[in-house]
Amino acid sequence: MRIDVVTIFPSYLAPLREALLGRAIDRGLIEVAVHDLRDWTHDVHQAVDDSPYGGGPGMVMKPQVWGEALDSVIGPVIDSPARLVVPTPAGRPFTQQLAHEWTSAERLVFACGRYEGIDQRVVDHYAQRMPVDEVSIGDYVLVGGEVAVLVMVEAVVRLLPGVLGNPRSAAEDSFSDGLLEGPAYTRPEVWRDLPVPPVLRSGDHAAVDRWRRDRALERTARLRPDLLAALPPDALDEADRAV
Ligand code: SAM
Repeated sequence: MRIDVVTIFPSYLAPLREALLGRAIDRGLIEVAVHDLRDWTHDVHQAVDDSPYGGGPGMVMKPQVWGEALDSVIGPVIDSPARLVVPTPAGRPFTQQLAHEWTSAERLVFACGRYEGIDQRVVDHYAQRMPVDEVSIGDYVLVGGEVAVLVMVEAVVRLLPGVLGNPRSAAEDSFSDGLLEGPAYTRPEVWRDLPVPPVLRSGDHAAVDRWRRDRALERTARLRPDLLAALPPDALDEADRAV
């Protein structure tokens, strides 16, 4: 997969080259390019924003600069099937399911907004040429799209084949079966008078699986009842319903 990010703060994206993502780049599993939006400005101030039509506070990012940048980065759509992602608090929620869907994309191009966001015509124009997603990482407002891109790229890349050491990690994570994952423990057996639940040391794999499932159900019911309510009717068996 190739990932392009267009931003006015390229250094914000430095963590894309760290840790798991950095190793994925080194191993040729992903290719990452970060582009400075100001490279496509033509004025001495390298302006990327202007005042909003209709008045109001703040500035809006100019469509001309974004158009030149995205035309150049995306290239002929026929040669490089890409999906454009525009982070915005006014977008649809980014979820684990969306992260899974994006793993099949050959290219993801992210357009990081700042100020009051990007002129809407940029989204409208590219939506006529290619798949475009306006996506929010949560119900709060950040100052720019860069942090949202770090979140989304990390969530997608760890799902790509070969990136995680053990693919079971992703398969058993929260959300993969519609539930939150239950608690995890490691050595020592007792820490500050708190013991590890005995069943986890029993060697009884069926009992461990049942215990983990029960804890996942309990935690989801307590913290995210909306997830339980959204499960398909056949997702829970009789043992699950007894929890
Ligand atoms: N005026 C916009 C609104 O209320 O919808 C907020 C703009 S915000 C200050 C500036 C930029 O930060 C956005 O264009 C977007 O790129 C990014 N951003 C802020 N919150 C975000 C969120 N929850 N998810 C994704 N991107 C976000």
